Amino acid sequence: MAFMIAIVGRPNVGKSRLFNRLIESQTAIVHDFEGVTRDRQYGDGDWFGRPFTVVDTGGFVPRDEDPMLMQMRHQAQLAVDEADAIIFVVDGRAGLAGADQEIFELLRTTDKPVYLAVNKIDTWSGQEQYLVDFYQLGVPLYPLSAEHGIGLDPLMDDVMEDA
Ligand code: GDP
Ligand code: MG
Repeated sequence: MAFMIAIVGRPNVGKSRLFNRLIESQTAIVHDFEGVTRDRQYGDGDWFGRPFTVVDTGGFVPRDEDPMLMQMRHQAQLAVDEADAIIFVVDGRAGLAGADQEIFELLRTTDKPVYLAVNKIDTWSGQEQYLVDFYQLGVPLYPLSAEHGIGLDPLMDDVMEDA
């Protein structure tokens, strides 16, 4: 079994962009399983020879009555349950949102290592203003830009350290 990495976070923070970055230029195929795992997308890669499987989730939405949103939440929970490590993605330009905090509280209940990817830090001109809020969550923090492929190496070096 390859080391399993789950990407979680509220919608629109850049989870899928990060997912695609991590598996780009990899030979392996993105799997689309049928049935209950339909909303989780799996991709394989390797980090300096160490294989991993990364799971993208639709979005770890807040509790809601909407069945579709609850289904998305359930899929994210399943991804966390099966993961060896979790990349928690937030939007570094938007600051710490209530939905981020709610997800973080859920992640605290797992004993899996959590790495905070502060995404959309495309440049260092005025986009770092919220980092201090994210630091207060007290987990290892990685400013990055999934869009531009900046800052991924320090994150993956640490995520894959125990793989
Ligand atoms: P998801 O809903 O969390 O999977 O988010 P997506 O990967 O679909 O990205 C949501 C939006 O954020 C898209 O318009 C992306 O182009 C944009 N986005 C993702 N990563 C970055 C980034 O590093 N910088 C910027 N500026 N935009 C990004
Ligand atoms: Mg997505």
